[in-house]
Amino acid sequence: MDRMKELVKLINKYDKEYYELDNPSISDMEYDALYYELVALEQMSGIVLPNSPTHRVGGAVQKGFNKHKHKLRLYSLDKAQNRTQLENFFQRVIKAVGYMPKFTLEHKFDGLTVSLTYKNGELVSAATRGDGITGEEITAQVKTIRSVPLTIHYKGEIEILGEGIMRLSVFEKYNETAKTPLKNPRNGAAGAIRNLNPKITASRKLDFLAYNVGYVEENLFKTQCEVNQFLRENGFLVDDKFVIVSDVDNAMVELNKIEEHRETLDFMIDGAVLKIDDMSLREKLGYTDKFPRWALAYKFTAQETTTIVKGVKWQVSRTSKINPLAVLEPVELMGVTVKQATLNNYSDIQRKDIKINSRVFIRRSNDVIPEITAVASHNEDSMEILKPTNCPACGSVVREEGAFLYCTNPDFCAPTIISYLDHFAQKSCMDIEGLSEKTAEQLYNEMHIKYPYQLYYLTMEQLLTLEGFKEKKASNLLSNIEKSKNVTLDRFIFSLGIPSIGRKTARQLADTFQSLEKLMEANTQTLLALDDFGQIMADNVVGFFADDKNIDLINKLLEAGVTIKVEEKKEGIFSGKVVVLTGSLSTFKRSQAAKIIEEQGGKVNDTVSKSVNLVIAGKDAGSKLAKAQKLEIEIWDEGQFINALGSDFIMV
Ligand code: AMP
Ligand code: ZN
Repeated sequence: MDRMKELVKLINKYDKEYYELDNPSISDMEYDALYYELVALEQMSGIVLPNSPTHRVGGAVQKGFNKHKHKLRLYSLDKAQNRTQLENFFQRVIKAVGYMPKFTLEHKFDGLTVSLTYKNGELVSAATRGDGITGEEITAQVKTIRSVPLTIHYKGEIEILGEGIMRLSVFEKYNETAKTPLKNPRNGAAGAIRNLNPKITASRKLDFLAYNVGYVEENLFKTQCEVNQFLRENGFLVDDKFVIVSDVDNAMVELNKIEEHRETLDFMIDGAVLKIDDMSLREKLGYTDKFPRWALAYKFTAQETTTIVKGVKWQVSRTSKINPLAVLEPVELMGVTVKQATLNNYSDIQRKDIKINSRVFIRRSNDVIPEITAVASHNEDSMEILKPTNCPACGSVVREEGAFLYCTNPDFCAPTIISYLDHFAQKSCMDIEGLSEKTAEQLYNEMHIKYPYQLYYLTMEQLLTLEGFKEKKASNLLSNIEKSKNVTLDRFIFSLGIPSIGRKTARQLADTFQSLEKLMEANTQTLLALDDFGQIMADNVVGFFADDKNIDLINKLLEAGVTIKVEEKKEGIFSGKVVVLTGSLSTFKRSQAAKIIEEQGGKVNDTVSKSVNLVIAGKDAGSKLAKAQKLEIEIWDEGQFINALGSDFIMV
């Protein structure tokens, strides 16, 4: 009972922050954990406290807003988070209906519920959900949203339900320059709509995605499919994702697909919504005091949670940039324990007002190191993060350039030297197997190897003095160093470690200039004319080759025996084309297909971007295909690929 009281109090506080103040201090994931703990206790004890949040829809009308009474109540959605819970929901429906009905499946947009009322074809009012019975009147605000039609064809009285959202691209752009960055797109949307000043709503460039009809004066629709059709015909923005499912397996396949494609969408979703398609069945099933019994939200793994910043580590990179890394109180997110997060740079820390000991939101998208998006709450122990005045590794004075900090003595700064040696040895650079970061560290500390050319003069006797080096390991390393002398131009360029020139760009430079000499002569203008080449990149390339020290180091590498091979440009059906392979092909292995494409003059990339010309999609292609569709890149299936190869192609 004590815990129940405590939970009710806590959840009500968090509800207020989320629904009324648009300023949450915990993540949805943490909220859900408390909520379901309360649900479980209520079920176990059979007691529901009078002010329990499990039996009402959150959100009171904010001061300054007029009240709007909904003609039909607006509900929340029951939730499932795994297959079993989804199955249980289907079982309940089957029991009530007598058979398994058809369900529609759509994205669950993560924004703010908005209800629009039209009379005589004109938008007469707009409202938030509020507690489901009464919401806030937000007509002036909503009229600034461009995807809300002010007039529609239909002339009867009708309520349109949808979600006010902020697109991710808009959100990111907004936060780039915002004095007070937004916590996330949902808050961006909610805060903009529930703002007494419609000008602010307008400036946030929101969108309205329609997903249902509430009250309508006549009986217009038999199914959700008809509703969708109607919404489109009346000029509403309706999301493309709309499929019918009729059993658990089917539903799980679609849900997994959506979860996989989630990263390619330009808006946030926190799950998918399943609704019974047939309206007459919906009536039969009815509602609990909080949810319709005919719909369900399937929630995906949360990408966001909160934790405490314990400290900041300043790390020196191979380009002598000093990057802040947040040390976090360890927290579980998407199945891994997160202990660190990137902080980008010092001005980012200031803009987001991140402090040591404060609670922050962290977000993770697939595979990348998490990012701190915003502060959740400060407390009395919160401390300013100080900008280092000296390099944490070598003590030299720090230089500031734009938002970034640099060590001013990189030639004598161990981490810069070691990580550059490590970079030089990497597979996509000179490919010296056996030269790990640890070995680089040993070579620097014990042998004073600072510059890559020195590697080519290492001897067996020297290596044998290093800890952990026996005859075999030493001779392997020596022969790998020897082998690395033959290098392709693109890998050589990448191994130079020119700031902001990655592997892909290095390849592009090699393809364009075809020789080191030509690249060294290139001017800013020529470089800027290349695809995706920005001013900073061009300046970095030109600046690098203008520095005598770098030229000297390049010459020393060449003197040491490094020979640069220039790959001949091959001519064929893929000449000049950048191709991405995705999904599984039945006639070839992917590596074979890649080889064929390269032999035919094409370039094979791993990721889809604007500079890709063609995507060849095999079976079960996933997010790459989706991205290609979004970017409107030409897409071939395996058949088209084989046809294009024609008679030139002999099966291998
Ligand atoms: P919740 O507030 O988490 O209980 O979820 C219910 C809310 O989900 C509704 O009020 C809608 O605003 C929102 N929602 C987002 N996408 C959809 C959709 N496709 N269909 C129905 N509701 C949706
Ligand atoms: Zn330093």
